[in-house]
Amino acid sequence: MIRPQFLFPLFGSLENLKGIGSKTVLNLKKIGISKPLDFLYSFPTNLKTRVFANTVSDLNVNKVVIIKIKIIKHNFKYFKGPLNIEVTDGLKKINLIFFNAKNDWIKKNFPIEQERIISGKLEKYKNQFQIIHPDYIEKIFDIDKIPVIEPIYSLTKGISQKVFLNSVNQILQLISEEISNCEWINKKRLKEMNWTDFKNSLKKIHKPKTNEDISLNSNYRLRLAYDELLSHQLSLVIARSFSKKNTKKRKKIGYKFSTLMKKRLPFSLTNSQEKCIAEIQSDLSRDERMYRLIQGDVGSGKTLVAFFSMLFVAENSGQAVLMVPTDILAKQHYNNFQEYTKDIEVNSVLLTGKMKTNEKKQVLEAIKLGQADIIIGTHSLFQKGVIFENLELVIIDEQHKFGVQQRHDLIQKGENLDILVMTATPIPRTLELANYGDMDISRILDKPMNRQKVDTSIISEKKIEILISRILEICKKGTQSYWVCPLIEEGDKSELVAIEQRFSSLNKMLPGIKIDILHGKMSEEQKNKIMTSFKNGNIQILLATTVIEVGIDVPNATIIVIEGAERFGLAQLHQLRGRVGRGKKQSNCILIYSKNIGRLGKERLEVLRKFDNGFDIAEEDLKMRGGGNPIGQQQSGIPKFRIANLDFDKELLSYANQDANEIIKNNKYLKGEHGKNLRVLLHLMNKDNSLKLLESG
Ligand code: ADP
Ligand code: MG
Repeated sequence: MIRPQFLFPLFGSLENLKGIGSKTVLNLKKIGISKPLDFLYSFPTNLKTRVFANTVSDLNVNKVVIIKIKIIKHNFKYFKGPLNIEVTDGLKKINLIFFNAKNDWIKKNFPIEQERIISGKLEKYKNQFQIIHPDYIEKIFDIDKIPVIEPIYSLTKGISQKVFLNSVNQILQLISEEISNCEWINKKRLKEMNWTDFKNSLKKIHKPKTNEDISLNSNYRLRLAYDELLSHQLSLVIARSFSKKNTKKRKKIGYKFSTLMKKRLPFSLTNSQEKCIAEIQSDLSRDERMYRLIQGDVGSGKTLVAFFSMLFVAENSGQAVLMVPTDILAKQHYNNFQEYTKDIEVNSVLLTGKMKTNEKKQVLEAIKLGQADIIIGTHSLFQKGVIFENLELVIIDEQHKFGVQQRHDLIQKGENLDILVMTATPIPRTLELANYGDMDISRILDKPMNRQKVDTSIISEKKIEILISRILEICKKGTQSYWVCPLIEEGDKSELVAIEQRFSSLNKMLPGIKIDILHGKMSEEQKNKIMTSFKNGNIQILLATTVIEVGIDVPNATIIVIEGAERFGLAQLHQLRGRVGRGKKQSNCILIYSKNIGRLGKERLEVLRKFDNGFDIAEEDLKMRGGGNPIGQQQSGIPKFRIANLDFDKELLSYANQDANEIIKNNKYLKGEHGKNLRVLLHLMNKDNSLKLLESG
């Protein structure tokens, strides 16, 4: 697992580079650069082209020129203001302007009567030619030091283009020839795509000749993007192939329980729900482990699919677990399950982190002795103290709230374990491969009948008072609403301040309306009390933080107001909106934006108004962000890629997926020459987990 020696320089300390000190290291961190290799993976975003000029002229104004000049005179400044040097190109006078230069530096670099080659953007000001801060000042014989075409990087404050480029050039030298000798892309693909090797691709991108070289279409970029996608797909396929090492015992499915529950439901299942349940049935009764993702928009009814699956297993005394991200959600699922299984002989328990010690002890005992068939809880379910008698099925709800690693760790919990994960977060179809290349996917496409589209409006915070008076009227008729406070970083004290301020102002403006607060810092008991009270209709407006984002199901609530909407990601807003529109009644979502929203921010919110399907919203979101490194990816569960652009590189992604599958099918342990080269790629891309798995196999 040790990284090959020839890769060391790419993973070394940045301070070994000339021109980089500890301060720059900190600034570099801000743009995601912590090792030399990261420099190479930050591609230029633009080109600067310089033109040779014999003499300045109107034709060259606004161009970056390279020109020979002779220094005539220094005009040092008396007060504030720029310093000016008069030079001539032999025919015409040019002013060189400096804002912050020291006199000594000027004297040294621009000696009177001497000639220099300089470069900079030529401008015309008050009918005189000028260059502000020429970026190259060279002696006549050093003209070659000025690049004619120069890559431009998008940088942060505290890092100059020159330092950046200089570092890139140093690091390019550090790529050893050995890397070029271990081509990990198969010959057929390489030839078909007409790609050059790793080192050369990097060189060509960082020393571009044309705009084409650094464009999305650039063959050099495509190769490197494929590298990234291949390593990602490979790591997924490896994780999967090693996790499937053990076949499992086929499960004998019981149908009595599920038939009883179906009778209790006040509605019939949708076609998608039926189909998903059937797929799960067939997975459970096979001798290969189930590893399935259920993807369905908010409100599509995933919970019931989970309940049915658990009953299949429980009927023959297998244990099934449903893990959710929050206490409130655990409690809600537990209550619903109890309700649906009143006349069924199945034992269910609730286990959350904040339970009282005594209560917890009893629950743990029941789990250990196998008295509890169905266990619903938060991630505390997988702590050491929890011992199962016969765990057969694990279901993870809102799986994007848990890490990929946790997903893989779960597999180790039992030999005959089947795994089902559910997500309400819509992953754009184009990204499915990238994220879930290792799983089978079921989709819930249709929503329960009689659902009406949630009416979404976008209003300015200036109109909040009008809104509140409207809400007063509606509340008097008995409607229930959510009111979501602006997004403030979790744990931040101002989160509570904001919510309490809004609480007192709403109370003042809505006399006689029962309002209450729900936030993450409350004790479990308090939260449960509030949720029950809201569910029973005793609270009319629930003022909340994003704790209500996932899963909460109160079909009677038909209005959701979201303050500071521009601060949320689109996926998150869609999730929040999904809290309403869960019953037959017409529902409303009101997005309030603050004054500094900007044009783009408004366009983003418009997407939500136009589309009501999570998949469409996710696709739009991706388009608007260009598929680069969008913020908020974490919460949407989309993996981060540095080079690959998931919107543009769809085809490349599917090639990488095909190739990765083929590789592992033929050479599971990555042996031989090609296997060794692929391991180099995994090292390069920091896929330590995959390398560990290969080692253990
Ligand atoms: P999800 O978890 O997919 O967001 P839920 O499982 O919370 O959705 O279901 C949303 C609401 O729809 C719940 O109130 C649930 O009782 C109801 N529901 C689920 N399936 C159906 C169905 N087939 N017909 C009518 N209502 C349904
Ligand atoms: Mg749910």
